[in-house]
Amino acid sequence: MNAPAKDAEFKDGELRHDWTREEVQNLFALPFSELIYRAHSVHRANFNPREVQISTLLSIKTGGCPEDCAYCPQSAEYDTGVKAGKLMDVDAVLADAKAAKDAGATRFCMGAAWRSPKDKDLDAVCQMVEGVKALGMESCVTLGMLTAPQAQKLKDVGLDYYNHNLDTSPEYYGQIITTRTYQDRLDTLSHVRGAGINVCCGGIVGMGEEAEDRAGMIHALCTLPAHPESVPINMLVQVEGTPVSKGQMPDALEFVRTIAVARLTMPKSMVRLSAGREDMSDEAQALCFFAGANSIFYGPKLLTTPNPNEHHDRALLDKLGMRPMAI
Ligand code: SF4
Repeated sequence: MNAPAKDAEFKDGELRHDWTREEVQNLFALPFSELIYRAHSVHRANFNPREVQISTLLSIKTGGCPEDCAYCPQSAEYDTGVKAGKLMDVDAVLADAKAAKDAGATRFCMGAAWRSPKDKDLDAVCQMVEGVKALGMESCVTLGMLTAPQAQKLKDVGLDYYNHNLDTSPEYYGQIITTRTYQDRLDTLSHVRGAGINVCCGGIVGMGEEAEDRAGMIHALCTLPAHPESVPINMLVQVEGTPVSKGQMPDALEFVRTIAVARLTMPKSMVRLSAGREDMSDEAQALCFFAGANSIFYGPKLLTTPNPNEHHDRALLDKLGMRPMAI
């Protein structure tokens, strides 16, 4: 990634799906100030830079997952101290959704540690989605791989977003997950898109990947047939017992670069500053917002890993003169 940056041959802010890998690499290689200035300009042209969308994430079925995602404390393959639980009751989930709404969240995301949902479980999740919608919130679920009929079933009860991440570059993917392929992921995304559900799809920084892999991950996202409406960019939370718990982490500036390139290549998507904020300074988060992040998870936990508490987040948004976005 030391190649000198070429002058842009495209106009910033154009909605494109034909990005080349080289173009994305060249954006990563820009001088830092130029990169975030250009990303911020695109951000400002498409969004109110003072607003941030607030989502809350709840683990509705924790642990015991048969997949082997190397970053995940919920995989049954790794001894991380996470206990496998059953699917939560619908009423308990809706009580949490109401509390999240009262705390200012406009979207409620529900995650289940499954390879793919069974039909009986999907029925319960459909009731949860209907309940969240009845509260006046947007709904999002992440349940693993979906078939086309399962995606349609979720669409029929009004699901707004489905999260399914690509995680990393196609080349590095095999180092991180062996139990499902990149193509499996693309197939699920296609079923979700085909059902007319908004796509939430991003990846993770800090799993031992090279800079080229971060460019490869953004390239895979920005060349999807339609850009994901929501692009979560996560900084790995290193959890003891997982295979990627001890590697050297990229610094915050590299993370900001990833946010900025996501903003430049997917100008109309919500870019979510996702997991990893707990270990990030306020200054690094401020740079992420400047570079184009406009969505965060709010609440003390992200599935099973810690997240900044709401009071700290409110104080940070106040300090930065930012405010929650209405639906
Ligand atoms: S990331 Fe999801 S699919 Fe992978 S092990 Fe964790 S819960 Fe399972």
